[in-house]
Amino acid sequence: MPVKLNLVEAKSILVKSGLPASDWVINAYNGCMFGCMYCYAASMARWKHPHDEWGSYLDVKKNAPELLHVELGKLFNRFKAKNFGSIFLSSVTDPYVGFEAKYRLTRRCLEVLADFEYEGKISIQTKSPLVIRDLDVLKRLKNVTVGFTVTTLDDKVSQFLEVSAPKSSERIKALQKLHDNGVSTYAFIGPILPYFTAIEHKIEELLDKLQEVGVLEVWFEHINLNGFIKSRLYEYLQQEDSQLIPYFDRTLDQTYRDELDQIIHRCMKGRSLKMSCNKVLFHK
Ligand code: SF4
Repeated sequence: MPVKLNLVEAKSILVKSGLPASDWVINAYNGCMFGCMYCYAASMARWKHPHDEWGSYLDVKKNAPELLHVELGKLFNRFKAKNFGSIFLSSVTDPYVGFEAKYRLTRRCLEVLADFEYEGKISIQTKSPLVIRDLDVLKRLKNVTVGFTVTTLDDKVSQFLEVSAPKSSERIKALQKLHDNGVSTYAFIGPILPYFTAIEHKIEELLDKLQEVGVLEVWFEHINLNGFIKSRLYEYLQQEDSQLIPYFDRTLDQTYRDELDQIIHRCMKGRSLKMSCNKVLFHK
């Protein structure tokens, strides 16, 4: 799909977060080319691009690093400290979406945070090994953790549902590399894919692999099939493999989610991995 790039001037970049476990978010881009068919950001971003298909545009906030520098200065004057809470990159895009290789906005924002000597926790969540490019900056940050979304170990499944994102195997290799370089890592298993991953032995395999590559913490999230996400996903499944639809339908039942919660707690028992929030997240 051709991508329409919009170079824009953001008015703010360090924004108060409504997410669990983060106080602030930085989105240097708006839009994403990775094409995940379950993407919740596609639904959230519609108010800015009501007529554009998700994946067909990218707003590039070209002043993000400079703006961040100014905003950190203002917050420092207010809090008289170099820690205003945890910062998350990113909530409505992938911070290492392909064009980051060219624009380097995420990298430059991290440099600003490193130069500022930010003391709060910084979490970066991605599906792209491009984050490895920034190992030098990551090592300068005082309190950083890098998370990879890993919904399956099967590259065919990741390519089916995360159409243009780097394959799962590449993400696993990147996690290993980060760990080898002393960067703390976590994994986000979300959404837990019905049919492909929501099976006890598949979850065990996935957790074994994550532990093997040095992951310390795992987040779990049930699939969120709100109206827009569901219609976009089902349209795709209808074309590609409509037999999968009943498996996704089942996730709408509380009983399904309760059973899956029990499976996950069983799989986590006795492992050194920390389970974030000690529960499987579910956003309605
Ligand atoms: S990588 Fe994240 S933001 Fe991008 S399409 Fe996938 S789920 Fe959406």
